[in-house]
Amino acid sequence: MPGSIVNAQEKEAQSQAVALFVSDVHLQPSLSRTTQAFLDFLHRHASHAQQLYVLGDLFEYWAGDDDIVTPYNQRIADALKSISDAGVKLFWIGGNRDFLVGEDFARAAGMTLLAEPYVADIAGHRITLVHGDAQCTDDHGYMAFRAQVRQPEWQRNFLILPLAQRKEIIDRMRSGSREAQREKSYEIMDVNPEAIASLFEATDATTMIHGHTHRPGAHEHQVNGRTCIRHVLPDWDCDHQPMRGGWIAIDADGRFKRFNVDGMVVRQD
Ligand code: MN
Repeated sequence: MPGSIVNAQEKEAQSQAVALFVSDVHLQPSLSRTTQAFLDFLHRHASHAQQLYVLGDLFEYWAGDDDIVTPYNQRIADALKSISDAGVKLFWIGGNRDFLVGEDFARAAGMTLLAEPYVADIAGHRITLVHGDAQCTDDHGYMAFRAQVRQPEWQRNFLILPLAQRKEIIDRMRSGSREAQREKSYEIMDVNPEAIASLFEATDATTMIHGHTHRPGAHEHQVNGRTCIRHVLPDWDCDHQPMRGGWIAIDADGRFKRFNVDGMVVRQD
């Protein structure tokens, strides 16, 4: 039966996964299929891995950890917590949309918050992990915004506002950012090669995984005579055609595999 062959392949992929990496799911209540696809990913795939790294923008936006009482957010936290309770180690790097996720959400979801860049040693690889927005240095407008909202003082002042007011401000910011993006070129919205090279240098790594740009792929960079590989994660959208999404897995032998949202291997390095 073809179904059982697929299941056998899926099972093999699951049992060998040391670490999975996912980002840019952009979870929001209005995207019910995307939400379900992510919950399926946790249940069917991440639950069989030793480690899961969420590399930013899991949520379309995050107004503060007091928003965890929203049933939708609670459902996501509970799903993460259930695989954490089952023994999967969960790690989190915030994205440009959910950088306000803090210790309260991390505790509810059973996750460990990491500061970026984070260097992980996995199956013989030294891997630099970032969301990717800090390397888009050609986007001067965004970099100025980022510098502002990443200040502890800005965050303190924002988080003392009532939740409803924070959501209104975020709504306005999101429409402003959509407007601004329409005017920016394709190049400006990608990572800057020099920023990537200096990150490889600073972290003394030859492998990197990030998201943010929504341009999945694997790229070679020459840094001080060394060949470095940069893996870019896809964004997710299962509510519109063609469906997008997926993750990267590293198996016990240190092989990188890229999976699509249906759990099929689409590339192996
Ligand atoms: Mn992002």
